[in-house]
Amino acid sequence: MAAETVKHFHERSISNPDFFWSEQAQLIHWEKHFEQVLDYSKPPFARWFVGGKTNLCYNAIDRHLKDRPDQNALIYISTETGVEKNYTFRELHAEVNRFAAVLKSLGVGKGDRVIIYMPMIPEAAFAMYACARIGAIHSVVFGGFASQSLATRIDDAKPKVMVTADAGMRGGKSVPYKHLVDEACSLAQMPPKNVLIINRGLDAGMPITAGRDVDYATASNAVGEAQVAVEWLESSDPSYILYTSGTTGKPKGVQRDTGGYAVALAASMKHIYCGNAGEAMFTTSDIGWVVGHSYIIYAPLLAGMATILYEGLPIRPDAGIWWKIVEQHKVSVMFSSPTAVRVLKKQDPKYLSQYNLKSLRYLFLAGEPLDEPTAKWISDSLGVPVVDNYWQTETGWPILSAMLGVENTPRKYGSPSFPVYGFNVALFDESTGLEVEADQKGVLGIVPPLPPGCLSTVWGDDARFVSTYFSLLKDRKVYSSFDWGIRDHDGYYFILGRTDDVINVAGHRLGTREIEEAISGHANIAEVAVVGIEDKLKGQVPVAFAVPKNASLLVDAAAHRAFEKEVMDTVDKILGAIARPARVYFVTLLPKTRSGKLLRRSIQALAEGRDPGDLTTLDDATSLQQIRAALEQDLR
Ligand code: ATP
Ligand code: MG
Repeated sequence: MAAETVKHFHERSISNPDFFWSEQAQLIHWEKHFEQVLDYSKPPFARWFVGGKTNLCYNAIDRHLKDRPDQNALIYISTETGVEKNYTFRELHAEVNRFAAVLKSLGVGKGDRVIIYMPMIPEAAFAMYACARIGAIHSVVFGGFASQSLATRIDDAKPKVMVTADAGMRGGKSVPYKHLVDEACSLAQMPPKNVLIINRGLDAGMPITAGRDVDYATASNAVGEAQVAVEWLESSDPSYILYTSGTTGKPKGVQRDTGGYAVALAASMKHIYCGNAGEAMFTTSDIGWVVGHSYIIYAPLLAGMATILYEGLPIRPDAGIWWKIVEQHKVSVMFSSPTAVRVLKKQDPKYLSQYNLKSLRYLFLAGEPLDEPTAKWISDSLGVPVVDNYWQTETGWPILSAMLGVENTPRKYGSPSFPVYGFNVALFDESTGLEVEADQKGVLGIVPPLPPGCLSTVWGDDARFVSTYFSLLKDRKVYSSFDWGIRDHDGYYFILGRTDDVINVAGHRLGTREIEEAISGHANIAEVAVVGIEDKLKGQVPVAFAVPKNASLLVDAAAHRAFEKEVMDTVDKILGAIARPARVYFVTLLPKTRSGKLLRRSIQALAEGRDPGDLTTLDDATSLQQIRAALEQDLR
């Protein structure tokens, strides 16, 4: 039989989801088989694998004890502390059981929430698996968030217990964690009963609150070699809550189910990421983000692969560290982000050719638009295909991607290829509510039901789930991604930016991404952010903030002006004068979230003389100062 095409695979998933997904469901263990594949009696709420009972921890760990007990499951590498430690499936099983026993001793049970505020250390992973094991709902909050952001999440999730460490390390410096948790607990209305602390010995002055704080080493000694039975959960019981990055505003608590998520991840390892049991996967994200949840913690182990947990920067001790890890652990599948690749691009390229990368099959990149120069650079330097995939915290796994496990379709630069099976994707014209034609811009929508693994609701707020995500069209409920895209005649999709990043210049709708891509085409531009600012005449005009590769060329005001004009001319040439930025400012750093996403909304606010808004997710505050300084120079 000829191999199935991606097109047919996708069509099948949409026309007969019951059959399609019951086939995929065989990739995981069901303690009790489901009675119904999909219950869609209360749209847009979808319940997958109704009546089935399963457990994420069992599927990730216990299931492999028979066939691969002594294979590595978790490979921990810290270039911050110099610690490296491998855990086989058997060892990981023991650690997770101990952690689960400690949580139980603190009264945590099925349905209780546990906030995990942790650096990238093995205990963070143990804590997540342990929650899954006992049916507790974890909510991992990225370790870089400030106490106020943490407090907001505490009040929303109402955890019984929080798990933290004394400190993390970043670039060789210790970063306090426990201290921030203390602050957050005092800011929160409903602080947790207990705080469980992994003491790494990095913060000698860590204060302890008697009666509330529990030392993990002591508590785990007390439970000994505990065995904790797996809690078999209903497929639609929640596995976790994860707050969105907050790039566009107030974070939403994305609630994920258990069975649908396990099936979606297991299937994605086969059809999208092409990972095989016995191999190693290296995902460079953080456990605080959705990519970390899906592709550091759960999916690799579901597939019987080892997962790599890396604590450290991509350029320390030098820019070869990731490739050294790939060589050492024979990584076959790697997953990173365009931002991280751009960081490497500023380093000496020699680091990419020092190691033997023959084990590596693919590099997957997601999280933001992947521009052609970046994709080309990394793909050529590594000699490995780069696969762009587009998704969101809400979906938990890719919406758009090549599916190389199904068919080896050619990739186009700048495109995350096609709608993934299960996702009934269409581009809509917001005003007419109609689907747009090929080569026309539209908002990327998903016609429900959302496939397994996607958010089941917003935590504690079903009404917000419906009103936030399903208001794209007036007359019917379609999920809005809040991203804007275009599909070419060959069916390839391109993401043009977020819906609130669309600029309306004299009635023409332009995506900031399009203008950014055009500017990036200039040989001396490393990175750029474009925002639309108010203009009396045209409604809005684009303004660019660009990072030159070689800032030393900008010796004086004349050189500045000349370079600005060159950049503007580049846009004229590629997109036409309508997209020409009114100004191009040069800076050395752009404001980004901790997850590496551009904070256009803050740049835009500053450029329009407004308050930049909630900046708790901002990575480096000096970047905004640069924007301010650049704008102020104009006023002088
Ligand atoms: P918030 O929803 O709180 O504003 P966020 O959208 O930044 O935060 P995430 O869920 O982490 O939080 O990011 C998903 C978004 O990232 C997508 O909606 C899209 O805008 C962008 N994105 C992700 N992958 C890609 C990709 N491959 N190409 C283009 N954009 C991408
Ligand atoms: Mg979002």
